[in-house]
Amino acid sequence: MKVSDVRSKYLAFFEKRGHAIIPSAPIVPGNDSTTLFTSSGMQPLVPYLLGQEHPSGRRLVNSQKSVRTGDIEEIGDNRHLTFFEMLGNWSLGDYFKKEQLPWIFEFLTSSEEGLGLDPQKLYTTVFIGDAELNIPKDEEAIALWKDLFAQKGIDAKEVDLGSEENGYKVGMQGGRIFAYDAKKNWWTRSGLPSAMPAGEPGGPDSEIFYDFGTPHNPAYGEHCHPNCDCGRFVEICNSVFMEYVKQEDGSFALLSQKNVDFGGGLERLTATTLGSDDLFLADTLQTTIIEIEQLTGKSYADPEFQKSFRIVADHVRAATFIIGDDVHPSNTEAGYILRRLIRRAIRHLDKLGVESNTLAALGNRVIDAYQETYANLGEKREQIDSVLTAEEQKFRRTLSQGMREFEKIARKGKVEGHDAFILASSYGFPIEITEELAGERSLEVDVNGFRKEMDEHQAKSRTASEGRFKGGLADHSEITVRYHTSHHLLLAALRQILGNDVHQRGSNITQERVRLDFSFDRKLTPEELAEAEKLVNEKIAEALPVFCTSMPKTDAEKIGAEHEFGVKYGDQVTVYSMGPKDATAEDPKFSESFSLEFCGGPHVSNTSELADGGKRFKITKEESVAAGIRRIKAVLE
Ligand code: ATP
Ligand code: MG
Repeated sequence: MKVSDVRSKYLAFFEKRGHAIIPSAPIVPGNDSTTLFTSSGMQPLVPYLLGQEHPSGRRLVNSQKSVRTGDIEEIGDNRHLTFFEMLGNWSLGDYFKKEQLPWIFEFLTSSEEGLGLDPQKLYTTVFIGDAELNIPKDEEAIALWKDLFAQKGIDAKEVDLGSEENGYKVGMQGGRIFAYDAKKNWWTRSGLPSAMPAGEPGGPDSEIFYDFGTPHNPAYGEHCHPNCDCGRFVEICNSVFMEYVKQEDGSFALLSQKNVDFGGGLERLTATTLGSDDLFLADTLQTTIIEIEQLTGKSYADPEFQKSFRIVADHVRAATFIIGDDVHPSNTEAGYILRRLIRRAIRHLDKLGVESNTLAALGNRVIDAYQETYANLGEKREQIDSVLTAEEQKFRRTLSQGMREFEKIARKGKVEGHDAFILASSYGFPIEITEELAGERSLEVDVNGFRKEMDEHQAKSRTASEGRFKGGLADHSEITVRYHTSHHLLLAALRQILGNDVHQRGSNITQERVRLDFSFDRKLTPEELAEAEKLVNEKIAEALPVFCTSMPKTDAEKIGAEHEFGVKYGDQVTVYSMGPKDATAEDPKFSESFSLEFCGGPHVSNTSELADGGKRFKITKEESVAAGIRRIKAVLE
């Protein structure tokens, strides 16, 4: 079946059983500051599961756009995606187990109304109970499953697997229904029952696994069982029975409103209908994969390249949906996740041998596949196209240089925290790209060292922006960062035109303009201002690479790096150099740099970024601020 068939069959199945179809909530939750993305169908419905009345009634169904950043590292296996759709149906204090389990079993196995899966391939799990918490084993679910399997002529034996510490070792034992402890079959927002605060609802759940018959891999444990990660079983869906509430004294009472919360992975279910454990065979992922095959001449089936195909297909699809919900690439929060997804996709395209701009073409295949269901994607085709194109152009400017820098580092046999920091700050390599590159060569990365240096760097930039030093950055938005780079170019231009007595005396940079205070003892002539403006625009047009190099302060002084009067620097400083055009990280050619300054950053990686969107640098004002100090304000417009 196609993804759209599975989705519409599911919605129709539950609509027929009295459920209102509700739209997917946006990928970025509007009213939940605790999480960057919506990661399940249940998440936007929490207030209603806790008792608030839902305007559409007590039986709801939908397909929710979900992003799980926690699964990014899993991408490349056969069953995880960063973005996926979660099919969900809910009872808000209405029906319960004896309706939910028969319905979901019917949906999975019926060939008329459902997916027509072979019941012989289905295995289920239930909660084993907890004597200490006085919560019984879920005998009701066990009885329901026995009955449902019996109707298909299957004698479903129940096996207690219990906890990881003791039970899992007993393995399958011819079982069909497996009872696990709270770690596997209990759901709350806070994890295990013991971690739940008073007043928190939760309850046992019952999962369904599909048996792909893959031989067990003992690397994952002596015996196989449904929750084993060897790949034989794939979890396709989960029914949560929210029937308990934690009391002040730590005990559990029955909830006044018993809820059902069901979640099923749309792409996993679709792949299962194709008889495959590879969810990348779902049609909506295949369109991208086929396009990559055409672009590269390589085959998805080739084990050497399969992981890269999967990462590109997954990340491009996720990025397309995220941009479609109005997130822009940036250096913080959801925008930064988006940027990382895009960069990792580009790095894998590069690995597959694609050197030119292709991300937007792949994004267009995603839009083609989904616009009928998600009209916003079709409507925003141009926006998605231009964001993907701009981000790819930007990252490609530093990718190959960064790869060369990485090769140089790799020869040392270890990636130090500082190396990873330079790769991130000068070449835009998110840490996971560095880790992945290192992993491919069995090298270690000092991630803690990286984080420490990154945190220090950010704290330093923040201090600068909090005004402890004169001026600084109002924030780290893309436009502010561009203004910051224009600040360096302007200072260098003024020194070239007015002489080396010109030094920075203060700065203030916002999203609207750059302001530079500098030492000079008279008003500038209109000709001098025009010349400075022209020189900055020339340096933008020359597309000069920008490098950040860490060095001892004495070395920075020796190479003549500019620094702000009166500011105290540590013994180790970072120097930003802009140009010459053929400078590289290995050989930044400081003596030929147009601009050279002590600075905590951040900056663009190439001056041409200042011209993005056809912008030009323009001086708007020149005035005196104090004796011997002039001030220039300028904009990019
Ligand atoms: P797994 O252990 O396989 O990662 P999970 O326990 O995290 O799954 P749930 O939180 O119960 O999954 O989510 C409900 C359903 O959503 C799962 O049964 C599965 O079908 C689907 N699902 C979960 N994570 C992903 C993912 N990263 N990609 C695709 N489908 C997923
Ligand atoms: Mg998971």
